[in-house]
Amino acid sequence: MFTKILIANRGEIAARVMTTARRLGVKTVAVYSDADAGAKHVALADAAVHIGPPAVAESYLRADRIIAAAKASGAQAIHPGYGFLSENPDFVAAVEAAGLTFIGPPAEAIKAMGLKDAAKALMVQAGVPVVPGYHGDSQDPVLLAAEADKIGYPVLIKARAGGGGKGMRLVEDPADFRAALEGAQREGQASFGDPHCLIEKYITQPRHIEIQVFGDSHGNAVHLFERDCSLQRRHQKVIEEAPAPDMPEAVRAAMGRAAVDAAKAIGYAGAGTVEFIVDGSGPLREDGFWFMEMNTRLQVEHPVSEAITGLDFVELQLRVAAGEPLPVKQDDLRINGWSFEARLYAEDVPKGFLPATGTLDHLAFPQGTAFELGAVRIDSGVRPGDEISPWYDPMIAKIITHGPTREAALARLSQALAETEIAGLTTNHAFLRRLAKYEGFAKGQVDTGLIARDAEALTPAPVPCTRSRSLAALGALGLAGDLPVLAGYAHWAPVVQPVRLGFDGEDILAEVYVDGTKRHVSVDGVSHVLEPAGDRWWIDGTLIRARVLRQGARVSVFWGNGYHYDIPDPLEVSDDQAGGDAVIAPMPGLVKLVPAQAGAQVAKGDALLVLEAMKMEHTLVAPRDGVVGEVLAAVGDQVTDGTLLLALEPDHD
Ligand code: ADP
Ligand code: ADP
Ligand code: MG
Repeated sequence: MFTKILIANRGEIAARVMTTARRLGVKTVAVYSDADAGAKHVALADAAVHIGPPAVAESYLRADRIIAAAKASGAQAIHPGYGFLSENPDFVAAVEAAGLTFIGPPAEAIKAMGLKDAAKALMVQAGVPVVPGYHGDSQDPVLLAAEADKIGYPVLIKARAGGGGKGMRLVEDPADFRAALEGAQREGQASFGDPHCLIEKYITQPRHIEIQVFGDSHGNAVHLFERDCSLQRRHQKVIEEAPAPDMPEAVRAAMGRAAVDAAKAIGYAGAGTVEFIVDGSGPLREDGFWFMEMNTRLQVEHPVSEAITGLDFVELQLRVAAGEPLPVKQDDLRINGWSFEARLYAEDVPKGFLPATGTLDHLAFPQGTAFELGAVRIDSGVRPGDEISPWYDPMIAKIITHGPTREAALARLSQALAETEIAGLTTNHAFLRRLAKYEGFAKGQVDTGLIARDAEALTPAPVPCTRSRSLAALGALGLAGDLPVLAGYAHWAPVVQPVRLGFDGEDILAEVYVDGTKRHVSVDGVSHVLEPAGDRWWIDGTLIRARVLRQGARVSVFWGNGYHYDIPDPLEVSDDQAGGDAVIAPMPGLVKLVPAQAGAQVAKGDALLVLEAMKMEHTLVAPRDGVVGEVLAAVGDQVTDGTLLLALEPDHD
């Protein structure tokens, strides 16, 4: 076994690899760009080497700098994670030429699977079923159109170098073929530097089922069962599970065999995934699955397979790379229970899954996590206060659950999502919660079109109910905790305090009054009675687990979906009135002091009146030089926002 390895990656996968390395007593070296100097993966590593500016081409894709960092730090091997250099055969060759070990398959195996057309040709030879289609050399549009006719519509055009759902076009009408081909070629060229395309039969109502394989350098290869990754948006995975729903044992065995055949055909060693497209229009069949591509690395969704097999795949990767034989035989492997993974991303779902950026002002996950084979596991590369920058993948965390049955694991996923708290940026959290509770999904009726078909029900941004709004109103007033006993309730008791909140452009007005330990809140014409109980709340007689967090001018209410409210800045409102004659209460509050006297001469900026609101004092000042007119407020008055407090005499100059 190695004593020190370098991880040529960042984010959750770098942290994930380090956790296993540490458990095995293997020292770790991180690499980082300028943007990641304070990142979690750097903090976790035993040593860290700076490799360049934020742009990936200048840092995480700089094979030369990464190899130099490994040499300089005394690492014996490099783990590539996924993405970046993980499927780059030239990188593997360079690593080996430098006398280091690449923790992954041989360069030749990566090359064999690198292009979808060549990989399919190879699989045909190995006797693995492939999606019917054309994967020859010609790019003559007339020939390709004729091939598409032969295959029969609908067809899917794919850039052979494509990945991450890019460079694909579905064509349903032959009249659209030419334009779609040109589109896929352009995208292939732009994203992967290769315009070459292949054509496939488009499987209608397909499921994406992939097989995890492992090989070693002694000619052994096993499969670790399947994952169903059919829940996709725009050909990208959102929630994955293992095993696949309604998988007959005979089909599982046939798919496993085909995947092992594929791995053996290319002399595979290490972790890999063979992806199949499966006919999901009826029960799964032994003749109803076809090879799509092989990913020659650890996959994002590997934890669900770890959960059901009880194995640590990073440990297996390290052992195999160190030359040990696989410690497991096919016949030893069993499926234990069910597992789900949800990918939590900084992205704007209603805006078409647009990546979002920002600071994680607050981030909390369910208890009992970190990398371990428990009921709930969180793999995350960020901590509270970290930034999701525009430079890299906007993943926040993978939330993984394990249970004895599909129902149990899915219920745990819902629960774990509900206990996840994030504030500061836009995420797909609410969308994941909807999906996890979605009826069709719960029944295991999954296919790759589910999200697009039911987008109207799944993607709109949720709107908070009046109970969440009531909690926010309490948070804004500083009443979301236990009240100080000695202060006496009388201070609050008869006072109805208006609160103004903003939610996504909506203006919310609430009224709060405190009666003993109870807070009465009315908002949007609905009244609720709320009472704190430790880390929970009684709301109208029901005990719920909700948390209210005030951060600056924002209140977050974490209860199911997290909702974030703005507290309009009262001082900003008074700025608006600068230069006017009226002094108006910019927020609801208690009049504490009235230095102004009718008839007095004041200068611009002189204190006229002090209001107390949200337990803070706000001084209202003269908007201009002038003479104080009538004073309408007295010390001890509780005023609502917008109340005219005093005015200056009209200016006669
Ligand atoms: P695929 O969807 O191709 O089967 P995965 O679901 O395993 O593969 O996703 C791998 C993708 O994750 C990469 O293609 C890349 O877009 C993205 N990625 C690359 N590097 C990172 C990283 N360090 N952290 C998060 N995501 C990454
Ligand atoms: P990528 O390299 O981008 O991951 P894949 O070839 O793995 O590309 O395809 C990505 C997704 O596109 C699949 O998971 C599936 O949802 C869809 N897809 C691919 N091929 C087909 C096909 N022949 N018929 C229907 N859907 C397909
Ligand atoms: Mg794929």
